[in-house]
Amino acid sequence: MTAVLLSLILILGTIQTAFAAEQTEAFRQATETLPVAEETVTSNAFAAATDVIKEMDDSEREQATDESLDEPQQPTVEPTEYIPVLMYHHFALRDMGQGDGVTTMQAELEEQVRYFKEQGYSIISLEDLNRILTKKEREKEKDGDIGLDLKVKYLCITMDDGYFSNYDLAYPVFQKYHVPASIFAITDSVTNQIGLKKFSWSNAAQMVRNSKVRIYNHTSNHIPVSQTTTEAFVAAALAGEEALKEYLPVQQDTVKALAYPNGQTTPELQEALLEEGFSLMFTVEQSVITRNTSRGAIPRIMVSSGMTGEDVIHKIEQTANRVFAAG
Ligand SMILES: [Zn+2]
Repeated sequence: MTAVLLSLILILGTIQTAFAAEQTEAFRQATETLPVAEETVTSNAFAAATDVIKEMDDSEREQATDESLDEPQQPTVEPTEYIPVLMYHHFALRDMGQGDGVTTMQAELEEQVRYFKEQGYSIISLEDLNRILTKKEREKEKDGDIGLDLKVKYLCITMDDGYFSNYDLAYPVFQKYHVPASIFAITDSVTNQIGLKKFSWSNAAQMVRNSKVRIYNHTSNHIPVSQTTTEAFVAAALAGEEALKEYLPVQQDTVKALAYPNGQTTPELQEALLEEGFSLMFTVEQSVITRNTSRGAIPRIMVSSGMTGEDVIHKIEQTANRVFAAG
C-alpha cells in the first residue's frame, strides 16, 4: 500500500517536473531575443542614413518617398496571379529618427516575415522563382491573360548592396523563420570594405551555410549602365560572378541572378547578359511579376521604413491591381 502510494507520488512529481520544464522552454522560446552584436548599436544604429541614401540612386530614392499608394480602389487581383519581389536595403536595431525611408528596424522585419507566413505566403528563393518561371514559359498562354495562374501565393525577399546590417540584423530573422532571402552584393565593396560597412565574405559564407540566405550579384563596382558602356557593364557583372565563385565556394548550384545598380537597364544590356547565361535580372520598377515580365527586367516592390506586414501586403495588392488594370 505504502509502496503504491510512494510510486504514485513519484510519478506525479515526474510529470510535474516535465511540465515545468516544457513551460520554461516555451517561455524561453517566446522571450528569446535575437542575437545582436555589440557593433550594431555603435555602428549600425548611427550608420548615417545619409550614407545609405548616398549609395542609392534616384529611382530607388523616388520609390522610398513614393506617396502614390492611396489610389482609388480597383478590383482585387488574386495573389496567385502574380509574384511580388520585395526589395530591402539597410536594417537597424531601433529607430534613430533617421527618416531616410530605406532603413527597416529588425523588429519590423520580424513582424513582416511573421505576417507573410500567417497570411499563407510561401516565401521562395530565386532558384524556386527561376523554376516557376521556366514552368510558366512552357505553358501555353491564354489569350491576353497576363495572370500566372499559380496554386500558391509566392513572395521573394531581396536586399541590395550587401550591408553589414543584412548579416547582423536581418539574417537572424531569416534563420529563425527558415525563410529564403537573397542579397545582391557589390562584390568589390565586400572584398575591400568600401563605403558604408558591408558584411565580409566569411559572414556571407556563414549565412549560406546556416540559413536559406543566398548571395547574388550587384556587379563588382555598382556603376549603373547610364554611366558606362554595355561592354564595361557586362565585364563588371562577370567580375561579380567570379568573386562569388571565388569567395563563396560553399554556395553551389545557384541561378545566375543580378540586380542592376540603380535599377537601370537597356534592351541591349539585357540581351548581352542573357547571352552570358544570366537568367534573372532585377530592376527597381515598382511592379509585380506577370506573364508580361521579361527575365531581363524583373520589377521589385520597395519596403520603406516603418511599414507593417499589413502595409507591405497592401502595397503589393495595390501595385498588382494597377498592373492588371493597365493590362
Ligand atoms: Zn544598389
